[in-house]
Amino acid sequence: MDLISGSTYWPSTLEQTLDFPPLAEELDCDVLIIGGGMSGSLCAQLLGERQVNTVLIDRRKLAHGSSSANTGLLQYSNDKTLTSFIHTLGETNGVLFYRMCKDALDQLEKLAATLDIDPFFIRRSSLYYASTPEDVQMLQEEYKQLTRFGFPVEYWEEQQVATRFPFRRPAALYTHEDAEVNPFRFAQGLLQSANRLGVRLYEHTEAKHLEFGENEVVCHTSDGTIRTKKVIFATGYETQEIKKDRGAILESSYAIVTNPVGNSSLWHEQCLIWETARPYLYIRSTREGRIIIGGLDEPVLNSNQREIRLLHQQKKLLQALQEHFPDVPFQIDYAWAAVFGSSHDGLPYIGPHPRFPNCYFVEGYGGNGTVTSMMAAQLLADELTGTHRPEMELFSLTRTNSPSPDTTKPVV
Ligand SMILES: Cc1cc2nc3c(=O)[nH]c(=O)nc-3n(C[C@H](O)[C@H](O)[C@H](O)COP(=O)(O)OP(=O)(O)OC[C@H]3O[C@@H](n4cnc5c(N)ncnc54)[C@H](O)[C@@H]3O)c2cc1C
Repeated sequence: MDLISGSTYWPSTLEQTLDFPPLAEELDCDVLIIGGGMSGSLCAQLLGERQVNTVLIDRRKLAHGSSSANTGLLQYSNDKTLTSFIHTLGETNGVLFYRMCKDALDQLEKLAATLDIDPFFIRRSSLYYASTPEDVQMLQEEYKQLTRFGFPVEYWEEQQVATRFPFRRPAALYTHEDAEVNPFRFAQGLLQSANRLGVRLYEHTEAKHLEFGENEVVCHTSDGTIRTKKVIFATGYETQEIKKDRGAILESSYAIVTNPVGNSSLWHEQCLIWETARPYLYIRSTREGRIIIGGLDEPVLNSNQREIRLLHQQKKLLQALQEHFPDVPFQIDYAWAAVFGSSHDGLPYIGPHPRFPNCYFVEGYGGNGTVTSMMAAQLLADELTGTHRPEMELFSLTRTNSPSPDTTKPVV
């Protein structure tokens, strides 16, 4: 799958990326991780910490899949509201999922602090504004639910938004304890750390064919073979080419990064900004004083079409940014389009699959992919070291709470 078109920003922020050889031998291990993006690198780090004999392979250079297109917003609120999760999953599971997201953010912060490559993890609040007056009631309901279960959030009227930002919106939620990160540096830092903990890494090494035995899996690459007890598929959106998930949707998403404009005084607390419209626009700043705006998701998958659409969509993103901040002269320095995946019920897919014995999947679909990848890495590291966590059932690949595509309502 051709995951990305255009030029992504993050690789320019790291002087020297990691270099590992392709696999050219026969190996044995206890856990093979296929995929060295954010999901694979988090799994590698956690298994490395527990001294599990682990090998990780990637068909590309490490961290050059979707994780280099990620815009690095980390939030406990999801594309689907808590209210909506409570409606579809019931109160216990809806609240459990939101709490797990919040805990995963704390875990990401702890890990970030241990790495030699600084991933620029910074705690931020998020402004979630009503795109239209019709969305105000939904925000009020969401505010009630979030406060009822102890999530840190404020409700702002139009005037409170207007005094802090150069734009007016009918209402907003201001959530606390979210964060921003540089996802490319984060994945590279985790891989470096995992490698030092003993995890063996191979890039330009594709898993081409797997044989499933009763107690082992044999993975064939072009020039090597790996005999392993367990496999973690951390293959991102390309997992849809390995097995199809009934509730997964792949689209194209777009992002631009501006010239450095000095971000500290442009808006309130350099918070993350997003909105209730679907697809939504989101805005954040970077350490270099650049602004990132992304969104405009649409169902274009062919990479030729996507490149043409990028020319149009990058102008629309610039225009939208200019509408939010009319006095700042923005220019586009980087623009990219990339495959983006979500699930119909808003939950990730994490766990085993009946057709793949001794294997686990990590599919952190949705705008909060990094947070759910963290959650997955925790659940799987526990599972593979002998502690089954019942929460994993919520993310089952064969779950039935996911409505079939033709009966799905748009996510709130
Ligand atoms: C434009 C955009 C903006 C985004 N913004 C955010 C955001 O702000 N916050 C957020 O949390 N998430 C965001 N996401 C989502 C985020 O990018 C994904 O959740 C994340 O990248 C998934 O990581 P991954 O490791 O699962 O996948 P990837 O990074 O794609 O890694 C999978 C790896 O598997 C390898 N692979 C696949 N098949 C094989 C094989 N057969 N053999 C060997 N290797 C294989 C690939 O080469 C790849 O490197 C965004 C996504 C896009 C596209």
